[in-house]
Amino acid sequence: MTEILDGEALAAEVREGLVAAIERLADAGARPTLATVLMSEDPASETYVSMKQDDCAEVGIEARDIGIDPDAPAAELYDTIDDLNADPEVNGILVQMPVPDHVDKRRVLRRIDPAKDVDGFHPENVGRLVAGDARFKPCTPHGIQKLLAAAGVDPEGKDAVVVGRSDIVGKPMANLLMQKTAGGNATVTVCHSRTDDLAAKTRGADILVAAAGAPEMIDGDMLSEGVVVVDVGVNRVDADTEKGYELVGDVDFESAREKARAITPVPGGVGPMTRAMLLYNTVKATAQDAGVEVDLP
Ligand code: NDP
Repeated sequence: MTEILDGEALAAEVREGLVAAIERLADAGARPTLATVLMSEDPASETYVSMKQDDCAEVGIEARDIGIDPDAPAAELYDTIDDLNADPEVNGILVQMPVPDHVDKRRVLRRIDPAKDVDGFHPENVGRLVAGDARFKPCTPHGIQKLLAAAGVDPEGKDAVVVGRSDIVGKPMANLLMQKTAGGNATVTVCHSRTDDLAAKTRGADILVAAAGAPEMIDGDMLSEGVVVVDVGVNRVDADTEKGYELVGDVDFESAREKARAITPVPGGVGPMTRAMLLYNTVKATAQDAGVEVDLP
């Protein structure tokens, strides 16, 4: 029987654990506050931000919702970040990507105070992750680590194949899986669009993390029996539904589940965990700010 890794259920458990930590912080006079900054009118980005706001409300994190006109000068975003950095009531800052073309994305990431960088994308935090001393693990790979642990999948000694080398998923995922620590110790192969004979690599995987953004590009023929499949991809494809589309992953679920020991669904696998780990990082940032020790789930 293939185990379906239920991200919704695990995310609910994480949120429950965070509520306890938030109560402990409240006793110490600290209320976690996350500021989201959106400089876009893209409906998908708007949806992501509003889901993050809702998640905050559910667990008792104060959410500040800052919108900036996408046509405004880049300086307006930089100044907003400076204000949030200086605001002692704000513990976490998230700038929703993508930002408009006239804004320098790297400058945005560097501008956020690393202690409030709950996405974990500031170069200082990237460096700390690579060095094995993470302050904030990026939400998606961290959520995947939790999913694997909850399913009793220990990467130690396993061959892990990560398809995708983005800064937000592929690279930090590969890094976490190779760290000499619990949840790591895998032998990691990172594949990308220039990889020769991708199927030969994916067939060698005990753990496969697909984060390419290419609908159902990995099917059962590219997998070996007993593999654990984590599908990060969220792709809209045309479909005869009310919305005119449906969401599919980077993995062809039906053929992959024939081979897999365990697999994440899309939706309902990695996505909910990504959202939960943002809350986790915000609570962690608050505890660090307040100098209060809390148990994190
Ligand atoms: P990017 O587009 O930034 O990176 C995609 C990576 O996949 C690149 O490294 C690219 O290679 C590689 N790639 C693309 N096509 C192929 C291919 N045919 N064969 C092998 N490698 C390929 O995407 P992200 O990392 O931001 O996101 C990946 C997917 O995950 C998207 O569908 C996104 O929507 C989803 N996502 C889901 C999240 C969740 O919580 N569920 C969170 C974040 C992302 P190269 O570097 O050579 O271009």
